[in-house]
Amino acid sequence: MAAIGNRTRDRVRAPLDDVPALVLRTVEFGEADLIVHLLTPTRGRVTAMAKHARKSVRRFPGSLDLFNHLEVKIHPRRRGGMPLLDRARLLSPFLALRDDAARYGLACYVMELLSRLAPEEGVGPEMRGIFHFALEVLEALEHSRPDERMRVLVELRALDALGMRPELRNCVRCGREVEGPSVHFHVADGGVICRRCSRDEELPLRAHLGTLRALEQGLRFPLAELSRLALSGQSLAEAHAIVARFQRYHVGLELRSERFLNQILRSSGGAGPTPAA
Ligand SMILES: [Zn+2]
Repeated sequence: MAAIGNRTRDRVRAPLDDVPALVLRTVEFGEADLIVHLLTPTRGRVTAMAKHARKSVRRFPGSLDLFNHLEVKIHPRRRGGMPLLDRARLLSPFLALRDDAARYGLACYVMELLSRLAPEEGVGPEMRGIFHFALEVLEALEHSRPDERMRVLVELRALDALGMRPELRNCVRCGREVEGPSVHFHVADGGVICRRCSRDEELPLRAHLGTLRALEQGLRFPLAELSRLALSGQSLAEAHAIVARFQRYHVGLELRSERFLNQILRSSGGAGPTPAA
């Protein structure tokens, strides 16, 4: 076990050369520096210092803005200091996200969620999945304006990428496939429960089987094709209630971008669904 631990530490300390990265957040530091929180496919969340980034336009010309897709070179930390961002080449600035409140709001939500929950300086295949999810969301938002349906499905996909996917098909207590037309979803237990396992004193959420099937499809579809998915009216309200309550219970974070996103999607005609009773 010790050998594996050493190997992992060695990889974390090795320089990152020409790896793709997304800018999750930046924080001004001192007179001229910038602390940059990046998401990478090989090491998850990496925090690095960009020296003189605010003074010298030559070193990082426009490349350290939120959402930017970059190729970076990072020097590992020395004596406990922060790793240094040596170079950042801009691959895509996702300009459409900056001109539209709904696109901006949903992109901010995803970046904030990942900047809080993506594993830091880790290694493993899940890092790749998280990075590809984030990139796919930004690319989809670059091409289409989100509505409440896309918001619900992006939130579900985020949970899936972070390894917190709700169980939508088989009873979380006995493993049997649940049957419709109306099924129970138990937030604390993390998924659907069948009638046999449902207890009288519980108050699970109710949803139609069709809603759960649509959510399962939403996990498989390319994000750019989510508009093909039939999820509206009562189904959308049920899906929204399941995903929102699951997330509040299992993630337990108050995200600053969430309130903004609610306001924007409601005021832009995609009247937010009211959660099912
Ligand atoms: Zn059961």
